[in-house]
Amino acid sequence: MARRSPKAELYRRLYRDPRWCGPNGIRHQALVRDLYTCQRCNCLMITGNRHHPRAAVVNHKAPHKGDEALFFDLENTEAVCKSCHDTLIQKEEARGYVIGCGLDGRPLAPDHPWNTRADDRQ
Ligand SMILES: [Zn+2]
Repeated sequence: MARRSPKAELYRRLYRDPRWCGPNGIRHQALVRDLYTCQRCNCLMITGNRHHPRAAVVNHKAPHKGDEALFFDLENTEAVCKSCHDTLIQKEEARGYVIGCGLDGRPLAPDHPWNTRADDRQ
């Protein structure tokens, strides 16, 4: 991560919280609910190697920005693979677009570049 800030430290603490990453934490519950299937590309994800392109990541649909209520809300989570998370979601979050895409893989946000420039698909 290029970003280092007090906010990043807070985030790091949240992701280490047992309510998130514990054996019955939100992260585990989200993976079970979504059957270890990426909610973006439908691939079956793996655990145990977080650097693998299909490593399981639990994403917050609405950016939590350090808000514990949003962070620990199972309804606000979706299981996605590392590829989708890294390429799609982080860019969307950084750019402030609506998170989510249709079955064809295009983001839902009408103002997203993918929906305004035909030559900019992944
Ligand atoms: Zn995926």
